[in-house]
Amino acid sequence: MRFYEEPAKKIPVREFDVVIAGGGTAGVVAAIAAARQGARTALIESKGYTGGIVVEGGTALHSFFNLWKAFPGVEKRQVVKGIPQEIIDRLIERGGSTGHVEMVTYYDYDSVCTAIDTEIYKLVTHEMLAEAGVHIFLNTMLVGAIMEDDTIRGVITESRAGREAFYGKAFVDCTGYGDLSAYAGAEYTEPNDHAVANAIGVGGVDVDRYHEFCKDQNLAQVAIGTRSGEPGKLVRVGFERGNFPEDIQKEVDRIGMSFITTTLHDDYFMFIKLNYKMPVSPTNRDEVVKAELELRQRMEAAIKVIRKIPGCEKAFMARTSPSLAIRRGRCIVCDYDITLSDILDGVHFEDDIMSYGFHDCAPRLKVKDGGTYGIPYRALRVKGIHNLLVAGMLITSDWDAHMSTRNTVCCFGQGQAAGTAAALCATKSVGTRELEYSDLREALLDAGVYLEN
Ligand SMILES: Cc1cc2nc3c(=O)[nH]c(=O)nc-3n(C[C@H](O)[C@H](O)[C@H](O)COP(=O)(O)OP(=O)(O)OC[C@H]3O[C@@H](n4cnc5c(N)ncnc54)[C@H](O)[C@@H]3O)c2cc1C
Repeated sequence: MRFYEEPAKKIPVREFDVVIAGGGTAGVVAAIAAARQGARTALIESKGYTGGIVVEGGTALHSFFNLWKAFPGVEKRQVVKGIPQEIIDRLIERGGSTGHVEMVTYYDYDSVCTAIDTEIYKLVTHEMLAEAGVHIFLNTMLVGAIMEDDTIRGVITESRAGREAFYGKAFVDCTGYGDLSAYAGAEYTEPNDHAVANAIGVGGVDVDRYHEFCKDQNLAQVAIGTRSGEPGKLVRVGFERGNFPEDIQKEVDRIGMSFITTTLHDDYFMFIKLNYKMPVSPTNRDEVVKAELELRQRMEAAIKVIRKIPGCEKAFMARTSPSLAIRRGRCIVCDYDITLSDILDGVHFEDDIMSYGFHDCAPRLKVKDGGTYGIPYRALRVKGIHNLLVAGMLITSDWDAHMSTRNTVCCFGQGQAAGTAAALCATKSVGTRELEYSDLREALLDAGVYLEN
């Protein structure tokens, strides 16, 4: 390979208290939380909208509640509140969420379905960031870190405004990929142990007729809520594995297609997922190009399968993820790594920043007695770096444990804690390890965060 040596150049510096990298699931909440603490907060997001994998990947937001329905006699508790709940309230006002409706079937997986409209989510979160006074930098890619020993002095970005430096006192990496942590020299692994995915929004379908079809398949997931403005309608529907003729089943398996969806509209599936297991980690740019093509071909194949289903003969692709959706890129080494037994045993810590009760492998893996476990503050502190926190899919190395902590609502809660902690660190001019937990706890409780210990 040949090399070109770039000449050094002066770039403009912007000064902030807190810099949040990535305006996705966790980053939106982190930035709102930091700004509400009075910190001058910058949010750096490479795409032209906020929301990340919430609007690109999944189906229902798992889960604001404990798994009470799977444990008869256990009390129903909303275990994630604060800013995440405010987002849902705003969405409901704008017709962009079902709110938390109970699952009618399959409730030993999740007791509740919280479905969202992806496009309204982008709008509402952008508005909330602006109202909180966050300085929002969209279409801006974070490409480097400026280090002074173990302290991040600033980050470097590229955008149509050119190359810039954002100085800050405290930083939060919410990039999902762990880009900022890697640039800062943090320890990490790249397990490449999940399929990547793309999700399509499918228009021109009849949700009720699709449900009739699902009833004849192996296991139908059902939740009832408001759809196209009318209450009492199906808003979650689908099945794990169908009774298709062999040739169709073979195609479904080949393209890694899921039949579970949510919807807020009579003629639209908000998400149909296609999975693909890459041979290497999705941080490999050149392999990602091949995966993007493979997934686009799978999307076309998925529409052909959907059109064979009664009520879906005229289905078409109405929305696609703008780029590959990942379940895990880098896994960043933090001061504590949450284990599967912490989760299943419902362990709480002396530095809990949130409670959480959902596991994506339920009913096989469930938190004991329909309860919750805690995410400790130390699980968000990046090992070896003085002023860097993380939030989102990039914590938790164990696959089975990650299948809980990576879920959207857990990422939201981590985001609120990380943003709040970063703001307190900046205001008090302390590193993340010098912040008194009691100060963080008080600020979280004041902001409506629910803690179970
Ligand atoms: C296909 C799929 C289906 C899923 N289904 C569900 C489900 O049904 N329910 C559920 O609860 N969870 C689901 N999950 C899990 C959950 O959606 C994710 O784990 C979670 O949303 C991750 O949040 P995050 O904040 O870590 O990352 P993201 O939401 O991806 O946010 C990262 C943000 O950082 C930005 N970014 C990245 N690098 C840079 C950079 N260098 N500079 C600037 N910006 C950058 C990205 O553009 C993005 O906006 C699913 C995940 C996938 C992939």
